[in-house]
Amino acid sequence: MKTIVDFNMSNKRVIIRCDLNVPIENGEITDDTRIRESVETIKIAHNADAKVIVMSHLGRIKTEEDKANNSLLPVSKRLSELLDVPVKFVSYTRGPEVELAIASMNKGDVIMLENTRFEDLNGNMESENDPFLGKYWASLGEIFINDAFGTLHRAHASNVGIATYIPGGIGLLVKKELDVLHEVLEKPKKPLIVILGGAKVSDKLGVIENLVTKADKIFIGGGMCFTFLKALGHNVGESVVDDTKLELCKRIYEQYKDKIVLPTDIVVGSSFTPLSSARLASIDDIRPNDIGMDMGVRTVDNLRGLLVGAGMVIWNGPMGVFEIERFNIGTRKLLDYLSASYAKVIIGGGDTAAAAVRFGHKDKFYHISTGGGATLEFLEGKLLPGLEPLMKKW
Ligand code: ADP
Ligand code: MG
Repeated sequence: MKTIVDFNMSNKRVIIRCDLNVPIENGEITDDTRIRESVETIKIAHNADAKVIVMSHLGRIKTEEDKANNSLLPVSKRLSELLDVPVKFVSYTRGPEVELAIASMNKGDVIMLENTRFEDLNGNMESENDPFLGKYWASLGEIFINDAFGTLHRAHASNVGIATYIPGGIGLLVKKELDVLHEVLEKPKKPLIVILGGAKVSDKLGVIENLVTKADKIFIGGGMCFTFLKALGHNVGESVVDDTKLELCKRIYEQYKDKIVLPTDIVVGSSFTPLSSARLASIDDIRPNDIGMDMGVRTVDNLRGLLVGAGMVIWNGPMGVFEIERFNIGTRKLLDYLSASYAKVIIGGGDTAAAAVRFGHKDKFYHISTGGGATLEFLEGKLLPGLEPLMKKW
């Protein structure tokens, strides 16, 4: 697979698919991290005298009204400031305005097209990878660079579609993400400790199965642990459980007992609100109305013990309902231990990364992955759809 630096881009029309999906409130960008992170790749193309066409999605577009709050116009202005280069915004996703703007570009010019998801109002053409749309967008460029890591696990017209019809490669952001994930799968620093939590069990069982042979220990906490605990015969009260996965969890646990570590005590509550009660319970003492909310003190201490001497840690999924202050202790303590550790720490997942930022540790880690779903699917051993067409030889 080629990287942006492998192409001769001089005077060529280069489409760069970025992930500029930033939060916008009342027309103001409230966090420009994703724009900042995209600058380096765009700059390489600009400095190489390419005619740079930037594309991205922003939010979800289900109705005409969604368009007003999800235009990329403010993003193009911010990008222009950060690049220190004019960025011409074209408020269409296709048609004569787009074609004219591109036809009149000079070497080194940068333009940005409107939000690719505006095409979802035409029968989901973007999100369902409509071949007509992919082919059309591909016709606007000569080289395609995919730098939107967070969408690699989806086949959309603006990634898989375009890449199917013109030569392409990856940008620096995608390269950085893939390099770290390859390192985890192929040459992890040992001992490798995997920590999983969060809400959805089904998304992460594949990760356990793929990583269990490489990992030295896998800790399962957060909302995920209750399906395992229930599968092993514990009462879990009203805790979140995926009843369709009980058999599978039981089988995985029995097979890898020596590697899988589960909580021994839990902070249980009465509702997912700040008004909830909170009580420490051993896993054998969870009552019918209890909801498992956070890791207990003994469990948090076990977790600390697991991390002693770790070479590499990969963590996805908060340890508790950290959005509620009284249930954030497991997540906060884990972040403290990880930031004090000598291990290479890799954090994946939108909510997990948000917790790392919220509790003030984000600069202490080896890598914080920007793509939740894409990271998990990669760690499950799946070939990411967005990469597949980029592997073709032209
Ligand atoms: P990520 O986005 O990092 O991949 P997930 O989306 O899988 O993580 O899970 C994050 C959510 O998991 C958080 O909103 C958190 O409140 C929730 N969560 C953590 N522990 C529990 C629990 N015990 N019960 C219910 N939800 C939980
Ligand atoms: Mg999430």
